[in-house]
Amino acid sequence: MVGVARITILGSTGSIGQSTLDVIARHPDRFSVYALTAHTRIDLLAQQAASTRAAVVVVPDPACADRFRTLWAGGRQLPEIRVGAQALADTAADPHCQIVMAAIVGAAGLPAALAAAQAGKRVLLANKEALVAAGSLFMAAVAHSGAELLPIDSEHNAIFQCLPHDGRASAPTGPAPGVRRLILTASGGPFRTRAWSELDDVTPEQAVAHPNWSMGRKISVDSATMLNKGLEVIEAHWLFAMPAERISVVIHPQSVVHSMVEYEDGSVVAQLGQPDMRTPIAYGLGFPDRIASGVGLLDLAQCGRLDFETPEPDRFPCLSLSFHALRAGQHACIALNAANEVAVAAFLDRKLAYTAISRVIDATLAWQAGQATVALDSLEAVLFADQQARTFASQTGLR
Ligand code: NAD
Ligand code: MG
Repeated sequence: MVGVARITILGSTGSIGQSTLDVIARHPDRFSVYALTAHTRIDLLAQQAASTRAAVVVVPDPACADRFRTLWAGGRQLPEIRVGAQALADTAADPHCQIVMAAIVGAAGLPAALAAAQAGKRVLLANKEALVAAGSLFMAAVAHSGAELLPIDSEHNAIFQCLPHDGRASAPTGPAPGVRRLILTASGGPFRTRAWSELDDVTPEQAVAHPNWSMGRKISVDSATMLNKGLEVIEAHWLFAMPAERISVVIHPQSVVHSMVEYEDGSVVAQLGQPDMRTPIAYGLGFPDRIASGVGLLDLAQCGRLDFETPEPDRFPCLSLSFHALRAGQHACIALNAANEVAVAAFLDRKLAYTAISRVIDATLAWQAGQATVALDSLEAVLFADQQARTFASQTGLR
């Protein structure tokens, strides 16, 4: 990009949002912050807006706007404060910014991520739930608007790096030539070596204690159940136009190999690095240039060994349910994601046992399979299907 690119960070107070600000701060000659958004941590948002001199902030309601004004210690003029979900989507499409980091967690981030894609931005996509719920709509928007889509999820960023490309990040029209398989690595999470049936009493604190990555609470639970890997399989299907049978998962406890592409000639190309999201974020920001991320170098001798294992289906039922949903179609993927969001929130609230997460998803998928379906050709249709699945999961699945 020529000149200083203005960036909007959707979900700036989260784990990905904070890592993005860290990378941006290293390159004042290349990037400036245009807008920041937050849902709850208004104090942190006020600090971020003051230190980055953001022009705009977006908060969910008028009470948060008041709180932001009270907390403001930036001295100079307040940033413009926009309020509500529509303002979030409008800010993602705002003509004053060129790059949008989509880092809201959950399907709540879909409307704004889609708005950025429709507006033809460079979209740095961390919010995997958006693609799981609305893959066809999202990829069609990217193709139609000419948006640049850079995957930030470390596995998909790795695969993107391992695939041939010509310095552009456009939507693929089919699987890349010569590619046989995409191989996603998974750490296996904190319960990798324990049977699913032994995990009834797992607490939220144990589930979010990821061995290698520091992340938000929801994705940390997803990593423990491996539903996260399931979402990533669906994400890879859409990002790289790959059918389910050409996407596989291997457990790699060290999280050094971030994913691989297997080619027809027997070559396997991998991307390696430290488990630090600033690497994929810097890749997305700088693409096609390589820019400093603040991540230290990888010392392979220090790593010593890299292990790989096949995930056992009975140990990770959520992974099998995800492959099932991908094969069953987009309504099933919406139900999978919605049920998981409901179940994980209940688990984090100590209202649901850890092992019940897969049961809620299973029940919601079974319910969905019996429903009449409509075409998922609009955001409204996707959000309606998402809401119906949430209602079922919270009323029936959690009983
Ligand atoms: P997080 O919980 O740390 O942060 C979430 C952000 O979203 C916060 O800024 C929060 O204010 C905002 N938010 C939450 N609910 C919202 C709502 N209803 N409306 C508007 N904003 C809302 O999450 P995270 O770990 O940064 O993950 C963000 C996304 O990136 C997720 O989709 C996750 O799967 C994906 N991701 C994260 C990592 C990671 O290392 N953290 C890695 C790969 C992918
Ligand atoms: Mg990932």
